[in-house]
Amino acid sequence: MPDSTPASPLLFPVTPPRIVDVLLPVAIGSAYSYRVPEGMEVAPGDIVVVPLGPRQMLGCVWPSPGERAPLDPAKLKPILRRCAVPPLRPDLLALIRWIADYTVTPPGMVLRLALRHDENAETGRERTGVRLGSKRPQRLTPARARLIEALGDGQLRAKAEAARDAGVSASVVDGLVDEGVLETAVLAPEPAAEPPDPDHAAPELAPAQAEAAAALCAAVESRSFRVHLLDGVTGSGKTETYFEAVASAIRQGRQTLILMPEIALTQAFLDRFARRFGVRPAQWHSAVASRRRAKVFRGVAEGEVSVVAGARSALFLPFRDLGLIIVDEEHDTAYKQEDGVHYHARDMAVVRGHLAGAPVVLASATPSLETEVNARRGRYRRLTLPTRFSGALVPRLEPIDLRREGPPKGRWIAPRLAEEMAKTLEAGGQALLFLNRRGYAPLTLCRSCGHRIRCPSCSSWLVEHRFRRRLECHQCGYAMPVPAECPHCHEPNSLIPCGPGVERLQEEVQALLPQARTQVLSSDLSGGVERLRLELEAVARGEVDIVIGTQLVAKGHNFPGLAMVGVVDADVGLGYGDPRAAERTFQMLHQVAGRAGRAHVAGRAYLQSYMPEHPVMQALVAGDRDAFYDREIAAREEAFLPPFARLCALIVSGTDAHAAQVHARALAACSPFTAEVRVMGPAEAPLAMLRGRHRFRLLARSARNFDLSSYVRAWMAAAPRATGSLKVEIDIDPQSFV
Ligand code: ADP
Ligand code: ZN
Repeated sequence: MPDSTPASPLLFPVTPPRIVDVLLPVAIGSAYSYRVPEGMEVAPGDIVVVPLGPRQMLGCVWPSPGERAPLDPAKLKPILRRCAVPPLRPDLLALIRWIADYTVTPPGMVLRLALRHDENAETGRERTGVRLGSKRPQRLTPARARLIEALGDGQLRAKAEAARDAGVSASVVDGLVDEGVLETAVLAPEPAAEPPDPDHAAPELAPAQAEAAAALCAAVESRSFRVHLLDGVTGSGKTETYFEAVASAIRQGRQTLILMPEIALTQAFLDRFARRFGVRPAQWHSAVASRRRAKVFRGVAEGEVSVVAGARSALFLPFRDLGLIIVDEEHDTAYKQEDGVHYHARDMAVVRGHLAGAPVVLASATPSLETEVNARRGRYRRLTLPTRFSGALVPRLEPIDLRREGPPKGRWIAPRLAEEMAKTLEAGGQALLFLNRRGYAPLTLCRSCGHRIRCPSCSSWLVEHRFRRRLECHQCGYAMPVPAECPHCHEPNSLIPCGPGVERLQEEVQALLPQARTQVLSSDLSGGVERLRLELEAVARGEVDIVIGTQLVAKGHNFPGLAMVGVVDADVGLGYGDPRAAERTFQMLHQVAGRAGRAHVAGRAYLQSYMPEHPVMQALVAGDRDAFYDREIAAREEAFLPPFARLCALIVSGTDAHAAQVHARALAACSPFTAEVRVMGPAEAPLAMLRGRHRFRLLARSARNFDLSSYVRAWMAAAPRATGSLKVEIDIDPQSFV
C-alpha cells in the first residue's frame, strides 16, 4: 500500500474565461486547451465532446494547473457539446491524478478507465406501458378477464409484465389495446438498480461476527477513513459480517463499492446479497452489456445506485457519496492490472477511501504480506473471525512425500491419495483434485530427436489440449493441430506428451476409479461463464464425484459435499526466484484446502510434494499461519523486499532483440544517481519473448519512504525516446516478475 498521503483535494484555480483544459482519454502528457462556445457553461469534471484532429472524442474538463500562457481563444477549437451525465466529482478527479502520478502514467490513460461507458448506449428504446382505460371490451374471453383483473389497480405496467402477471400471451394485451380497452403510455426509465433493503433478512450473528460487525458499522457511521482487515478462516462468515457494514451505509443513504476478483463467476454471491437485502447489487465488469453499464454509470453518479459489486475497474465509477469500500479476497492477484495502467486495485481502493473519507474493509483468510504487516503495525485495524460459522473444523492437511510414496512412472496420483479418494467416495463424499495446469500435457517432446515444440512467438512450450486436438500457447493464444510427425526430424509418431494437465489427470482418475463421475473445471470449458456456472451448481448438488480443477475452482465456490482435496503438485510455483512465490503458494494451497469440509464434515487435504520439509508446507501442515507470516516477513525484511522496500520494474520490449537490449542498457546508463535508489539490470526477462517481442527487465529499488514514482518520472524524462517497435512499460509495485 502506498503510504504517502494522497494529494489534498483539488483546487480549482480561476481560468481565464472561455478557455478550459480538457483531458482526453489518450496517452498524452497533459490536457489540451479548448474554447468554450458562446452560451455554454462548463466546469471541472464535466464530460464534453471535443474535436481532436479529424475525430471527435469524449473528454473531461480538467482543473488547470494555474497560470497559463496567454492563448487566443479564436485560434482554439471549440468544445462541441457537454454530455448530459453528471460531472466527475473532485474526489474522482483527485484519484485519477493520484494514480497517474503514482503509476507514472499519462493522466489521460487513467481517465480512460473512468470514462469506460458509452454515452450513446444509454438512449435505448423507450418502453411502453399499459393500464386500464374506461372502455369495456366487446367480447370477454377468460384470458381477457384475467388481464383486466391483473390491471385492476389502474397502475401503469410494462406490456410484458402485464402479460406475465395475468398468464396471457402478448397478443391478448395487443388485442385490448387495439380495442381501446387498455391505454398506452411511456414508462419511466427502468432504474439502474432496485434499492436494497438493509432490514430485509438480517442474520443472527455469531459472537465474533457480531463484534466485528459492530466495529465496522461504527466505522461507517463515523464517516471517516480507516482501513480494517477482516481476517477470518474460509467459511468463518466474513461476507455475512461485512454485509452488516453495507446495511449501515444503506441506512445512512451512502454508497458502497464491493470489489471482487473475477466477479463474472460469482452468481452465488449476487444471490446471497439478494437473500440478505432483497435485491441484487448493481454489477460492473467487462461482461456487463454496454447499455446496462451506461445505466449503472449514471445511477452511480446520481446516487440512485447504492451498492455496486464489481471487478477492479469499478474503482473508477463516479460515486456521488461513497461511504464504504470492501475489497473481498484482498490478497488475490487479479487485483493487479498488468497492462496499460499498472495499478493495484486494492491499494488504489485504500487511496480512494482516503480521498472520499470512507472506511475500507479488506477481507481475506490469507492476507497479502503488505496487509499483514500493516495490520501488525497497527496501521490497519484487524478484526478476527477465528472459527468456521458451521462449527466444522478447518481441514487437516497432510503431506504425501513424493520421494517415498510417489506414483508409478508416468502417473501423477500417489497410491495413498488414490486410496483416500476411494474411501471418500465410498462414504458418499466428493473429492477435488487440484492442479493448476490447463490442458492435457504442458510439453510435447520428440522421443526420437528430443525436440520440444515451442511457440513461434513466445519463449514457452506449447500445451497439448487433447479434447480440442491442438497445441496451444498459453501466453499468446497461438494454436496448431497436433502434428503427425516431429516438426524437426520428421520421424512419424514420435511425439510424446510430458507431464500432467487437468485433462490427463482425468484419464488417470477414470482408470483408477472407473465408477466415479468426474468433471474437469478450468477456463477451457466450452460454453463460457454460463456453462461454468451450471457445472459448479451440478457439483454443489452432488452430481459429480471428483472434480479436477485449476485455480478457477479454488476461489470462493462453496461445495457442501466436498470432503477432501488432493493437491497434485504442491511444489509448483516454489523456487523460481520470484520473491512472492512462497506467499502465492501459501495463499493458493490454503485456499484450495479450505474448499473441503465447509458444511458439516471435517475436511481433509493432501499435499503431494517433493519437499514436504519446505517451510511453506510445514506451516500449512501444522495449520500455523502465523509461523508462515513470521518467517516470510523476516525473510522480506532481510532481503530488503516489499513491503520493506519499494520496487519499480521497467520492461523494455521490441521486435528486434538487439535493439531492445541496447535501449534497456541506455536506460540503465541514464538512471539518475542517488544513494537512495538501486537500479538492477537490464537482464533478459524470464519470459524472454512474448508475442514476438523480446523482453528485458530493469528493477529499481528504494526504501519505503522514498518517492520512487517521482524518481522514475525524472528518469524517463531524461531517457532516450523509445523509437520504432520499442516499448517501455513501467510497473510500480510489480507483482509479477516474468
Ligand atoms: P467466508 O466469507 O468467511 O468464507 P461465508 O461468509 O461465506 O464465509 O460464510 C460461510 C457459510 O456460513 C455460508 O454458507 C454462510 O451463509 C454461513 N453463515 C455465515 N454467517 C452466518 C450467519 N450469521 N447466519 C447464518 N449463516 C451464516
Ligand atoms: Zn505464444
